[in-house]
Amino acid sequence: MKTGLFGGTFNPIHLGHLKAIKEVKKRFPLDKIYIIPSAIPPHKDQTDVADANERYEMVKMAVKDDSEFKEFVEISDVELKRSGPSYTIDTVLHYKSILPEDSSFYLILGIDAFLEVNTWKLYMNLFDLIPFIIITRSGIENYKKNEGCRAVEEFLFTRISAKYRFNSKISGYVHEYKKTVFMLDIAPLDISSTMIRRDIRENKNIGSLVPVAVNSFIEKKRLYL
Ligand code: ATP
Ligand code: MG
Repeated sequence: MKTGLFGGTFNPIHLGHLKAIKEVKKRFPLDKIYIIPSAIPPHKDQTDVADANERYEMVKMAVKDDSEFKEFVEISDVELKRSGPSYTIDTVLHYKSILPEDSSFYLILGIDAFLEVNTWKLYMNLFDLIPFIIITRSGIENYKKNEGCRAVEEFLFTRISAKYRFNSKISGYVHEYKKTVFMLDIAPLDISSTMIRRDIRENKNIGSLVPVAVNSFIEKKRLYL
């Protein structure tokens, strides 16, 4: 059983996240993907972050709205149930401890998030524990396919280990004893939660950026105004 872990603040969840999940599932042999909203994201300015339960609700609505997700997506409340900041290392260790030995895990991350991994708690240990699936993210020049790949390579060599080597057969950086870092070039949607929150403040319509139910929920709760 192969499980992908896709964490984030999801403040709010948007169509870019949903497309990314679908593409990863299509291209990588995963049986399941857990979406894991963080309770207290350690690296975000807390003033603009919606209540954790509301963000979780929106993730639930987004997934329910889309029948394609039924078979393979689960929404995890592990970080909501844990007290204190939501550290990915704790979540990875949690899943490794509760799921059967023959299950394997993959950490799914946008390239922007990956290039900040060195600010995460015990990030070095992550490379010993779990393979990464890095997905492209549009919009920012550096994240274009080749430049993005170069940025990941430089990051790996200088911050993690100079012994990572790219293997084109599996499209991933392999290492003698550290976990593989897979590169997945999806055709991403140029959407971010920051863009959505800004549009809301400017009274712009966000109907084309989030699922219908999420849009209604944001309006009803008057989020991000
Ligand atoms: P914010 O602008 O508030 O940072 P965000 O849109 O980046 O929000 P996050 O919750 O921070 O959303 O992201 C969770 C994960 O989803 C990260 O790994 C991020 O790189 C990835 N991600 C976010 N948006 C996209 C997108 N449009 N395409 C692919 N991956 C994305
Ligand atoms: Mg982000």
